Amino acid sequence: MRSVLFLIVSLLVIGCADVRLPYEDWPASIHNFISLSDTDLTALSQMADTLNEDLGKPVIRIGGSVLQGYPITIEKVSSLPNPSHVGFAKRYTDHCEIQLRADMFTKANLLQSVFWHELGHCGGLKHTDEAHQVMSADASPFSSFSANALSTFFAALTASTGLLVP
Ligand SMILES: [Zn+2]
Repeated sequence: MRSVLFLIVSLLVIGCADVRLPYEDWPASIHNFISLSDTDLTALSQMADTLNEDLGKPVIRIGGSVLQGYPITIEKVSSLPNPSHVGFAKRYTDHCEIQLRADMFTKANLLQSVFWHELGHCGGLKHTDEAHQVMSADASPFSSFSANALSTFFAALTASTGLLVP
């Protein structure tokens, strides 16, 4: 069983294309949903609420005006160009696009990890070598941010310069 788990974790890699530099547009507003059902949307909304609670402020907002905050699009896709990727984020100066692989939606704990991870990329976070952290490139379930990852995430979302975890 342990070897099976290791195989699964080692095959799941989260990707990002880093195009965006500044962070002043946060808080973020997730306003556009592609191929998401009401059930999917409810699940992601709850995960965003949990993240906001952990961050201690409403950083991520589901729905609302695209004129407020940094707009994020979420698309549920059957596959990604790199088959080992389970999520992908593309950051631009004026918006961010997140793709989440459809099979993640059957694994709630893993979905939350991947969703938060891609939000981290939208906010400017890069990967960390620490295992089971939200910004680890290996997708593995975690219950919450560690204190260290949380402070890094918060700093990246609120600072205009500086950062980040390599
Ligand atoms: Zn990543």
